[in-house]
Amino acid sequence: MNYKRIVIKVGSHVLTENGAVCKERMLELVRLISELKSKGLEVILVSSGAVSAGYTVLPLDRLDIGNKQALAAIGQPLLLKMYQEKFATFEILCSQVLLSAADLDSKKRTALARHALDNLLAHGVVPIINENDVIATEELEFGDNDQLSAYVTDTFEAELLVILSDIDALYDKDPRAFEDAVVRKEVSEISQEELDAPTTANNEFATGGIVTKLKAAYFLLARGKKMFMATGFGLSDVRSFLLDGVHEGGTLFKK
Ligand code: ADP
Repeated sequence: MNYKRIVIKVGSHVLTENGAVCKERMLELVRLISELKSKGLEVILVSSGAVSAGYTVLPLDRLDIGNKQALAAIGQPLLLKMYQEKFATFEILCSQVLLSAADLDSKKRTALARHALDNLLAHGVVPIINENDVIATEELEFGDNDQLSAYVTDTFEAELLVILSDIDALYDKDPRAFEDAVVRKEVSEISQEELDAPTTANNEFATGGIVTKLKAAYFLLARGKKMFMATGFGLSDVRSFLLDGVHEGGTLFKK
């Protein structure tokens, strides 16, 4: 394997099924991470799903920002408890790292965060990062976990960001709207026009959409990093890419 440290970002669609956290898919992800770790790879996980997890025990209206903060506060420990149980079956410790944009806004604070992450990884612990949605206000927020995961990849000096999405690859147009959409297997450049397209998150839990993924890729390409986007519904494409070095499904962004 060519990588030493990678970031995996899992979207809310992948982790959720009928309004609840999908334990089977979470377990599959945790199993993959344990295999990657056994090959000597350091893995940082950026996970959405706190609001959805909160909603399972207190179904408040998520569109209200105050409720969303409450759901994130309730759901984050529930989500982490699930991860902890799954990782424990592979004898792996995981940890919660909540970030807000202010944590990475100066050299000093970034160095502190880097030191903390390095230390966790040195002890074999999987850091599970999420935006601190409970207190994030507009000035303090990353916006979404696609962007957060790109910053995390850069700040914590990983070589690759893997985005596990509800779609199996980047297409030349939205495959849900156009039957003749074609997969773009490798992308080395992203145009301003693509970055300016309106965001198209397609369910009530998602705020991302494909544009935020393109923005993440754009940010990383400019910094000499790679991004691989594949489906999180079944991990065979990401497994073969990471474990066998074979690019079957998914889109690789690299210069
Ligand atoms: P996630 O929850 O995994 O972060 P989103 O649902 O927010 O992902 O974004 C992915 C969705 O973006 C896809 O399901 C698809 O409907 C839509 N989409 C729009 N344009 C494209 C495109 N060119 N290629 C792939 N997906 C696209």
